[in-house]
Amino acid sequence: LFPTLFSPLQVGDVTLKNRIFSSGHDTVMVHDGAVTDQLVEYHRARAAGGAGLIVMQVAGIHETARYTYHVLMATDDSCIEGYRRVADAVHEHGCALFGQVFHPGREIMESQDGALPVAYAPSAVPNERFRVMPRPMSQAMIAEVVAGYAAGARRLRQAGLDGVEIVASHGYLPAQFLNPELNLRTDQYGGDLDNRMRFLREIIAAVREAVGSGFAVGVRVSGIEHSSVEDEPTDIVEVCRRLDADGLLDFLNVTEGTSASRSGSMHIVPPMSEEAAYTAPAAAKIKAAVSIPVLVAGRINQPQEAEIVVAKGQADACAMTRALICDPDMPAKALAERPDDIRACIGCNQACIGHFQSGYPISCIQRPETGREREFGTLVLTPKPTDVMVVGGGPAGMKAAVVAAQRGHRVTLYEASGRVGGQVLLAERLPGRSEFGGAATNLQSELDRYGVIVKTRVEVDAAMITAERPDHVIIATGATPYRPHLELDGDMPVLEAWDVIGANGGNTPKGEIVVADWRGDWTGLGVAEMLAREGRKVTLCVNGYAAGENLQQFTRVSMLRAATEAKVRIVPHARLFGADDDTVYLVNTLTGEPIILDGIDGLVLALGHQQNDTLLADVESTGIPFTGVGDCLAPRTVEEAVLDGLRAAAAV
Ligand code: SF4
Repeated sequence: LFPTLFSPLQVGDVTLKNRIFSSGHDTVMVHDGAVTDQLVEYHRARAAGGAGLIVMQVAGIHETARYTYHVLMATDDSCIEGYRRVADAVHEHGCALFGQVFHPGREIMESQDGALPVAYAPSAVPNERFRVMPRPMSQAMIAEVVAGYAAGARRLRQAGLDGVEIVASHGYLPAQFLNPELNLRTDQYGGDLDNRMRFLREIIAAVREAVGSGFAVGVRVSGIEHSSVEDEPTDIVEVCRRLDADGLLDFLNVTEGTSASRSGSMHIVPPMSEEAAYTAPAAAKIKAAVSIPVLVAGRINQPQEAEIVVAKGQADACAMTRALICDPDMPAKALAERPDDIRACIGCNQACIGHFQSGYPISCIQRPETGREREFGTLVLTPKPTDVMVVGGGPAGMKAAVVAAQRGHRVTLYEASGRVGGQVLLAERLPGRSEFGGAATNLQSELDRYGVIVKTRVEVDAAMITAERPDHVIIATGATPYRPHLELDGDMPVLEAWDVIGANGGNTPKGEIVVADWRGDWTGLGVAEMLAREGRKVTLCVNGYAAGENLQQFTRVSMLRAATEAKVRIVPHARLFGADDDTVYLVNTLTGEPIILDGIDGLVLALGHQQNDTLLADVESTGIPFTGVGDCLAPRTVEEAVLDGLRAAAAV
C-alpha cells in the first residue's frame, strides 16, 4: 500500500529501512540530565513497532543550555552509557538512532529556584515565550559553545548512535544568529547573511571534525518561521542552499515556527486545527534547492499522508512523532497493509506536549501505556478468562472493555444511549475539533477487533447485574452537567453547554448570548465560538483569569485565535450569579463588583459536570466484584478516564 514510504533511504552512510521517523521531542523521562530506564523502554517500543529512525530528544551541550528542569545533557562523558543503552535497544529492531545537540539561546524558562542558567543569545533581545532578557554572548563564549556542540556529537558517536542533528529550528540559538531581528551584532557574527551563518557553519565544521565520516550529520531548520512581522526575516532556503554547498551535511530536517511566531509557539507541536502535512510545501522548497535528503515534520499522522509527501517528492522521510506516541506499532501495521488497525493521533496535544509543559513524562490520551512501558508495555493474558460486564460506553468504559478483551476475558459493554463515545462525541462537534472524534472511532474499531459485545440503549441497574451475574463489573456511567445554585428569575432560556453542542446550536436563541464558563476547558470556549460563528453576539464570562486556562497551551492558542476571529467577547474573573428576563448578573471575582449584562437572549452554562455514581453505590449490594472508572468517580479528563479504564482492566 505504501511503496515509497517503505523503501530504504540513504542518509550519508546510514541506510534507513523506511521513511518513517520519530523526530526529537522532550519526554521528561530524564533524571539529573541522564537517560532513564523509562526512556530506554519508550524508544525500544517505537523501534519494535517498525520506525526506520528515531531522533532522540535535545541534549544540552553547554551548562547554559539547561533550558528546563528535565533536559538531557551531553556535556560530559557520563552521558555515553545512557545513550548506549538506547542505541542497543533500538538497533535490536533494525532502527537507526540519531541524537540532537542543542543550545536554546534566549529560550530558557525563568528559573524559579536558581537551578536554570542565565539566558545567552547573540544580542539582548527578549524572548517572547518566557519573557526572559538574554545576555549577549562574547566571542570567547561563542567559541566555547561551538566546542560544546562538537564534544556532544563526539559522545553520541562513542555511544554507538548513527548520527546527529544540530537544532537550528524553532528559534533556538543558531536560528537566533540567523535572524537579523534577533542578531544585532556588529562583529563577524552579525550583519550580512554570511556573517549571520558563521556561528552555524562553525558548529557544523566542528561537529564534522569531531565525528569524522560514517556518521550522519544534519541540521534541523524551520522552513517558515511565521514571524509576527510582515516578512520572514531569515531566508532559510538560501541558508540551506549554502550549507548544502559547503558539503559537510548529510541531511536537513524541516519543520515550522518559532516561539515568536504569530499565534505563539504552537507550530512547535501543531494542534489539530492545523492541516495534515501542512509543512510539506516548505520542505519541498528547500528540497528543490539542495542535493541532500530532506526530512519533514508537522502533523503527519497517517501513513497515507506520509506516502503522498514522499511520493510527490516534497520530502524524503516523514516525522510521525505523535503518530508513534499514539501507536508505536503504526509502521508495522502499515507495512502489513492493516492501516485500519492504526490508532491515529488526533492532534489534541493533551498528554504528549501537554505533559511536557506540565513537567511530567509524556504519554497519550488514547494510549496511556505510552511512557508507562515498564508497567503496561507487555499485554498480560489472563490465566483465567472470566465474564466482564462494562457499564458505560465513554472513553473509560471502552478502554476497559478493549483491554479486558485483549487479555482474554469475555466482555460485554452496555451503553444507555444509542452510540458509544461519551463526551468525545460532543467535543468533535465543535469548530476545528472534528478530529477529536477519532478517539471514539479508534476505540470503537478496537472493540470490534477484540470481540467485545456492545449493547446500546440499555439502562443497567443493580437488578440486571444480579440477573446477569458476571464475574466482574466495571462501572463507567459518566457524568451529568453540574448546576450550582443560581438566582434564576423570569423567562430567559438557560441551556446546558452539552445540550447546545449536541444540537449544533440549533436549540439556542438568536441574538445576544452569554456563555458562563467555570472549568476553563474546551466546553465554554468551543460552544462560544460555535454560537458566534452562526451569527450570534456572544460574551464568554470565565470564572478564572482567561478563557481556556486549563487547555494545553498550543490548543488554547488555536482555540482562542478562532474565538477571537469569530468576535467572541471574553470577560475574565466573572462568576455567574443569576439571570432574569433579559439580564445576566455576575460578580467580578477580583473586586466583588457586580457585572450586569443587559439585552441578553439566552444563557449557556459550561459550569463543569458531576459524577453519575448511582450505580456505583448500588452495585455493592450485588456482592459481585466491581471497579469504578472515569467520570462516575469524579469529573475526569479523557486522558484520566482512559487511564482508569486501562488500570481497571489490567487488574481483572
Ligand atoms: Fe496525539 Fe493527543 Fe496522543 Fe498527543 S495526546 S499523541 S496529540 S492523540
